[in-house]
Amino acid sequence: MSKRVFNFGAGPAMLPTPVMERAQGEFLDYQGIGASVIEISHRSRQFGDIIAETSALLTELAGIPGNYRILYVHGGAQMQFAAVPLNLIARKPARKASYVVSGNFAGLAAREAARYGKIDASRSGAASNFDRIPEFDPATLDAGSSYFHITSNNTIYGTRWNDFPDTGSVPLVADMTSELLSRSIDFSRFGVVFASLQKNLGPAGLAVVIIREDLLGHALAETPSLLDYRACAEKNSLANTINTFAIYMMKLVLEWLRDEGGVAAIEQRNAAKAAMLYKVIDASDFYLGTAHADHRSHMNVTFRLADEKLLDEFLEQAACQGLYALRGHRNVGGARASIYNAMPSAGCEALADFMRHFERQRA
Ligand SMILES: *Cc1c(COP(=O)(O)O)cnc(C)c1O
Repeated sequence: MSKRVFNFGAGPAMLPTPVMERAQGEFLDYQGIGASVIEISHRSRQFGDIIAETSALLTELAGIPGNYRILYVHGGAQMQFAAVPLNLIARKPARKASYVVSGNFAGLAAREAARYGKIDASRSGAASNFDRIPEFDPATLDAGSSYFHITSNNTIYGTRWNDFPDTGSVPLVADMTSELLSRSIDFSRFGVVFASLQKNLGPAGLAVVIIREDLLGHALAETPSLLDYRACAEKNSLANTINTFAIYMMKLVLEWLRDEGGVAAIEQRNAAKAAMLYKVIDASDFYLGTAHADHRSHMNVTFRLADEKLLDEFLEQAACQGLYALRGHRNVGGARASIYNAMPSAGCEALADFMRHFERQRA
């Protein structure tokens, strides 16, 4: 096989090599049909099995309670920025919702929601360039809100909620695109969790939505039927032709995760991987972490070089070592190592070694 790099890209992100090999091996002939998985009907028995097994695996791995439904919806996470208010904001006549603006995607979600109702986006991390999760005091919760929205892991800024807010009877909605299945989550705390696939779950273009059943059936009348959660649930996400390949890939990723020991095992491995990089950052004045130490993400490690002029050389030399796509997002600058479930420990070790080496060479 041709050489594969350690891919630190934020998304679409690397997938486990065994998953890619399996897909390659059965790409032309799925289970002896003589046709590819992308050439068979979304209503075929074989694809019916794929989507059912994907949901069963997700339920088992994530520990999703029985009163939740799993939906697959076109358009990635940002389509959910519209679908969430369309489906939930009319739960209460005031059409209000609260958004914690902890980063770029949270801000985009709040802005999209404002097309459908009154949005309280006053809890914001903008003042410190989103280097931490804004404080949340439950006493300030507006019980009249239809829902409370957070972004559990902030992909661009490299921060995460360690503990999730207790929002009482107001359903908690979380964009978990960049960390679903990377850590154990008590789903009963959430009304809706959604994630597009291209960080931890598969290829781009689709979102998985995990929704508590009592939240179905509140959609605004003008909601496109393909975005109506109740209609999706009733039609088992097959109202029209779903992205069959993405769901097939997600199934392979989930099987891989199960074989790796499941979420509890990968969570430990992820913590150790992140610690390798934060250790290098904390041991030096050459690298500066951009996220507050108490709010650091285990998925996206963001840092700058104290001497910013060295960044391009850092990135070029890293690329020569097979350490790919480390440039940070333009909102933060510097470098970002996205180390989702599929990144092996060896990738983080290689990056930590390179960082120490580059520092010795240039400091
Ligand atoms: C990547 C990302 C998105 C964007 O997802 P799309 O599928 O491109 O719409 C949204 N939210 C978070 C937290 C992300 O990391």
